[in-house]
Amino acid sequence: MSTPLGLILRERIAKSGPVSVAAVMELALAHPDYGYYRRKDPLGAAGDFTTAPEISQMFGEMVGLWLAVVWQGMGAPSRFILAEAGPGRGTLMADILRAGGMVPGFRQAAELHLVETSPALRAKQAETLKDASPHWHDDLASLPEDAPLLFVANEFLDALPIRQYVRVPDGWRERLVGRDGSGFAFVEGPLAAVSAPAGQLGDICEINEPARAVAALIGSRLAIQGGAALLIDYGYEKTAVGDTLQAVRQHAYAPVLEAIGESDLTAHVDFDAFARAAAGARAYPLLNQGKFLRSMGIELRAERLRQSQPSKSDEIMKACRRLIDAAEMGTLFKVLCLTAPNLPIPPGFAADDS
Ligand code: SAH
Repeated sequence: MSTPLGLILRERIAKSGPVSVAAVMELALAHPDYGYYRRKDPLGAAGDFTTAPEISQMFGEMVGLWLAVVWQGMGAPSRFILAEAGPGRGTLMADILRAGGMVPGFRQAAELHLVETSPALRAKQAETLKDASPHWHDDLASLPEDAPLLFVANEFLDALPIRQYVRVPDGWRERLVGRDGSGFAFVEGPLAAVSAPAGQLGDICEINEPARAVAALIGSRLAIQGGAALLIDYGYEKTAVGDTLQAVRQHAYAPVLEAIGESDLTAHVDFDAFARAAAGARAYPLLNQGKFLRSMGIELRAERLRQSQPSKSDEIMKACRRLIDAAEMGTLFKVLCLTAPNLPIPPGFAADDS
């Protein structure tokens, strides 16, 4: 409550009434001075959460190989736009470039574009990726249109602000955030026209408008420019009801309406809605992360790494299991592949791949 953003939110509500969940997320994550992502690097053991590329280089290597094979399937264009949204510390892209670089010509053809709003993380990316001379963008709309696009994002969509709606007898009402004593509480707003699964009284459904805009943009870009996109995140396969808004701080869940701006605020990705919004592109059936990484050969890669670094053998094994096991990140995290309609089936996504 007493965080700078808590005070700003309190004033805003006092002035014009309860605000949407999306407005709270936007404020908490992206306020120019106090927003969570604007101020600090939240990743890693010392931060609030750890992501797949920060767990092991193997994750980015598998994605890099995937991209290089897709690039070959596109006819190995001599120039393409290699774009990543929300690149964090630049770790995933560094691993992509190193592994993709094993395929002759891939690295030379790649023109690197990063979509990132956080000045703190842009600085980290500049350091990690200095040899690849990246171009930065505030949003996807300014990515170049004059070459095929290979787009990748890991844990980007979950950070985009969702709206929530509550099922009431006469339809759905937007779930808003208002005041409650000295703190904040959820309240119901006016009836809203949403197309959502039927739901029972009290159920919550979520709509991620910015994610749909991202999907629409990627879909039309792929249709026009050619190329493919790989989106990795935690989320669900079919649109469903459920409250997935969550706050994470120092590697533990935290109350979402407390200490606004001090924890990471995210929501699970509705991949069904995302794929439907990506008109113009072909969307492949969703894979879980474990299956995707195994089909790209992560277990073999782990064996090789263990042989070359025997002192780290256990660590490498554990990291591999953490990325692919169902009880860890293997099933919760999903991989969505979108391609230009004329592209060959990308590795891992053929219906009979096992
Ligand atoms: N992909 C990285 C980081 C994930 S954290 C990894 O896997 O480690 C989310 C990333 O998205 C951060 O880099 C954050 O600054 C960025 N981000 C969040 N909202 C954004 C927005 N609206 N536009 C661009 N980048 C955003």
